[in-house]
Amino acid sequence: MASERTLSIIKPDATERNISGLIIARLEGAGLRVIAQKRVWWKKKDAQAFYEMHKGQDFYKGLIQFMTSGPIVLQVLEGEDAIARNRAVMGRTNPVDAEPGTIRKDFGVNMQRNSVHGSDSPESAKREIGLCFKKSEIVG
Ligand code: UDP
Repeated sequence: MASERTLSIIKPDATERNISGLIIARLEGAGLRVIAQKRVWWKKKDAQAFYEMHKGQDFYKGLIQFMTSGPIVLQVLEGEDAIARNRAVMGRTNPVDAEPGTIRKDFGVNMQRNSVHGSDSPESAKREIGLCFKKSEIVG
């Protein structure tokens, strides 16, 4: 498997508890390299653009509210099989179902406040990286 890039977000529940560093250590420990990073506070329109595929779902409104409730850390991660590798270290969406040792199992609060986002396919990685970063901000 060739080197790949994926978009990661450390969500407001994690920045609020000051555990971004603990999460980044897990990502690096899984063989992922942070090649772009910035801390931002999304406006409603930013969150709506990012999560447009979830529009109409019952959790959409709450998700937009949550993702604009505090600072987040946007990152591009690079590594072999980075998309699947990141999803594996994140764990399943609901922390209750997440495997032991995963970020969501250890730090997630509930189905919504689950500490991290990770792109789920090469197509979403490309779209999400393009939405969040300029080419010049990515230093691989
Ligand atoms: N989410 C939620 N309730 C749900 C499903 C999802 O609040 O029933 C939130 C949760 O924060 C999740 C995000 O919406 O991480 C995106 O959902 P998705 O199904 O894409 O899960 P993920 O890819 O993040 O595991």
